[in-house]
Amino acid sequence: MTEVNYDTGNIFAKILRGEIPSHRVYEDKAVVAFMDVMPQGLGHTLVVPKAPSRNLLDANPSTFGPLFAVVQKVAQAVKRAFDADGVTIMQFNEPASGQTVYHLHVHVIPRFDGIPLKPHTGAMEKPEVLARNAEKIRAALAA
Ligand code: 5GP
Repeated sequence: MTEVNYDTGNIFAKILRGEIPSHRVYEDKAVVAFMDVMPQGLGHTLVVPKAPSRNLLDANPSTFGPLFAVVQKVAQAVKRAFDADGVTIMQFNEPASGQTVYHLHVHVIPRFDGIPLKPHTGAMEKPEVLARNAEKIRAALAA
């Protein structure tokens, strides 16, 4: 698979390198999960493989097993952490689809009956709220 068009300066690459902060909830040798700073709902979490690819289209297929194992783990944890009714999983490829950060990632968003998603890349959440939500998810992952 190709890494053509992968920009090592993208914001998630910087987060993965620890150059900018994030509210991490999970990390293993292949995958990291952290809070989305512009959440579309309570507990919106991003699951990100460490391997560089722009999105799903250019990713090495070997990325997906470890990535989706963590997507499931985080989905189960956020559902428990926030007592959610369901969980939406989203993943965008290229600008036409809504992608805005060009390092493969999967959105994990707890859902509550009757509550619509907020806009994609809408308002920034307060750091203290993200920190509190991250703590709840870490606790659910550890339980
Ligand atoms: P995409 O549009 O590429 O599928 O999703 C990118 C996501 O990253 C958006 O939901 C956006 O809110 C989030 N995001 C953008 N910049 C940052 C950042 O600096 N830190 C974190 N944690 N999330 C970000």
